[in-house]
Amino acid sequence: MKRDEKYFKGCILGGAIGDALGRPIELKKLKEIKATYGSKGINNLTLNDKGIAEITDDTQMTLFTAEGILRANCKNGRCYIPAVVYNAYLRWYSTQRNIDTRGYDECTYNSYLLKYDELYEDRGAGNTCLTSLSKEEIGSIKNPINNSKGCGGVMRVAPIGLVYNKKEAFRLGCDCAALTHGHPSGYISGGMLSCIISCIIEGMEIDEAINCAITFSKDMDGYCECVETIEKAVKLSKDDLVDTDAIRMIGEGWTSDEVLAIAIYSSLKYKDDFKKALICSVNHDGDSDSTGAICGNILGAYLGIDNIPK
Ligand SMILES: [Mg+2]
Repeated sequence: MKRDEKYFKGCILGGAIGDALGRPIELKKLKEIKATYGSKGINNLTLNDKGIAEITDDTQMTLFTAEGILRANCKNGRCYIPAVVYNAYLRWYSTQRNIDTRGYDECTYNSYLLKYDELYEDRGAGNTCLTSLSKEEIGSIKNPINNSKGCGGVMRVAPIGLVYNKKEAFRLGCDCAALTHGHPSGYISGGMLSCIISCIIEGMEIDEAINCAITFSKDMDGYCECVETIEKAVKLSKDDLVDTDAIRMIGEGWTSDEVLAIAIYSSLKYKDDFKKALICSVNHDGDSDSTGAICGNILGAYLGIDNIPK
């Protein structure tokens, strides 16, 4: 059992580090990454003028998910949890759109996180998240808000697995991703990540945790694409291919199933080495900050903060 501060912090901080590692190469193809950083690709954090490695929207939204869940827990079950998390995402939205929230519902906008300037910065916020949160309606599995399977639904839901048991985590991960992403792969991937984190916190090995998430996914309509991509990544992680070749076989790394799969491949391949796993997870053609963030969430929860290099 890893229900301990060390692993909770490992999960959140691990994700932030992977996010920051991938940020400078988010939109670069592998060829360009190698041309800039050498044949092995990027292998260290890039610091800004203040000596800080900058997180992106992935970590911003992960923090708001955490705040939403903490707030829902304070209500002792007397609330619909995805709705409380939705309000947390509205707070994130207000940071990205410079919305003056004075006069708005005070309960919604009274937030610990809104005091941090860095969370107001534009760090590549996803269009699907912004558009969905600008609407009057709230997305759900029953009433999809769009047909998006971008990775904005999955990259933010790891904290759910720190709090809820694996079955609840799967369901809530799906529900919270579906607030903004309506394609089955867009929200099932969210359920899978939350479930994987929950299983790891319960003490499972990473491969067992993935199997458990696959089992729950198979109860959902439209699960095939997501499950097939994850199963391919698991299989490739056992082969002896060069990582960049294996990742290319998973896909381009922009859709939610492929982003989760690349993070899973890297976590399985280097499960005892946080740094190697993260480097593997970001050097490819796809969405490097999100693959890095998710890989960091998984391995941070698995290894704990003490095993993340200083
Ligand atoms: Mg990002």
